[in-house]
Amino acid sequence: MIGFQYVKPSKPKAAIETVAKDQTAMFIAGGTNLVDLMKRRVMNPEKLVDINKLPLRKIERENNNVRIGALALNGAVAEDKLVLEKHPLLSQALNAGASAQLRNMATVGGNMMQRVRCPYFYDTAMPCNKREPGTGCSAIGGYNRMHAIFGHSDKCIAVNPSDMNVALVALDATVLVSGPKGDRKIPFVEFHRLPGDTPQIHTNLQQGELIMAVDVPENPYTKNVNYLKVRDRNSYAFALVSVAAALDLDGSNIKSARLAMGGVAHKPWRLNEAEQFLAGKPANEATFRQAAEIAMRGAKAFEHNKFKLTLGPNTIVQALKNASGVA
Ligand SMILES: Cc1cc2nc3c(=O)[nH]c(=O)nc-3n(C[C@H](O)[C@H](O)[C@H](O)COP(=O)(O)OP(=O)(O)OC[C@H]3O[C@@H](n4cnc5c(N)ncnc54)[C@H](O)[C@@H]3O)c2cc1C
Ligand code: SF4
Repeated sequence: MIGFQYVKPSKPKAAIETVAKDQTAMFIAGGTNLVDLMKRRVMNPEKLVDINKLPLRKIERENNNVRIGALALNGAVAEDKLVLEKHPLLSQALNAGASAQLRNMATVGGNMMQRVRCPYFYDTAMPCNKREPGTGCSAIGGYNRMHAIFGHSDKCIAVNPSDMNVALVALDATVLVSGPKGDRKIPFVEFHRLPGDTPQIHTNLQQGELIMAVDVPENPYTKNVNYLKVRDRNSYAFALVSVAAALDLDGSNIKSARLAMGGVAHKPWRLNEAEQFLAGKPANEATFRQAAEIAMRGAKAFEHNKFKLTLGPNTIVQALKNASGVA
């Protein structure tokens, strides 16, 4: 038996205060990641603050944003009329994640915060700098097929496992947070961290800060979009590589583009240089191939994930083809 206290406040302030003053307390939403980690003794919170009574489930239009409450369920967001109309890329990414059952339990805030799926992180018998700082990284010399090719450090080479995060970084989302020191907004691109020397810190959220909502600004990417996820099976499998591609087209010319990758880095990986290259170019395979080459600059693979150096650019090209309708 694992002993822990359980509270279920009905006001955000009470939830925030409880977690802010107790380092051993954690929020729990859908529980689909945290309960797993507790069962395996990877995480051992002494107090669980269940946030399901808080009024954070709404999906609404707010100041040219689609504002999605932190407790909105992944399945509900994917099927929401406003999201489908304004941000079909986000809907596609959410629908590519997990299974229908999980999507109906998992929340947007929890998805954003889910921990890495590195097998050594889950195995408490193995060294892991993320789980226990200073013990070493078992993946670097171990089985690293699922691991990063960008932004890794000699301390950790794990990837962020979320599909939703890839779409949100491409769409310039902002995370709305409330904490013991007040409210703040975090650009999505700054929400997750690279591992550096502190892989145990996976986001820039402070103790006690609660994700209230995410704002996704309105943009021209409502039609020519594609979230392409390459995985070992069609369901219940995390991305080997995924690509979120969005194009604003003027006939067959690209006015502007948004591009991000998943399964390749410790954070959702935005491809700014490739986006800049695409702007003003014709939408064709040659352009997409050049953009993919630019996107892959600086990639460094390990023993078992070298295939990502080929799979990555091919997935980018295919996602751009799917988004633009170029055969
Ligand atoms: C078999 C399986 C397959 C999966 N496949 C995929 C996949 O293909 N793609 C994918 O993207 N995901 C996948 N997932 C992960 C799943 O999407 C996440 O487990 C889920 O999104 C987490 O949401 P939750 O509400 O259950 O979070 P919880 O487990 O409740 O919480 C997770 C973390 O978030 C924190 N947290 C939750 N809400 C907040 C908040 N509002 N503010 C601050 N912190 C908060 C918690 O403290 C905890 O640390 C899979 C999961 C399983 C079990
Ligand atoms: S890659 Fe990161 S999570 Fe995996 S063993 Fe190394 S330190 Fe731990």
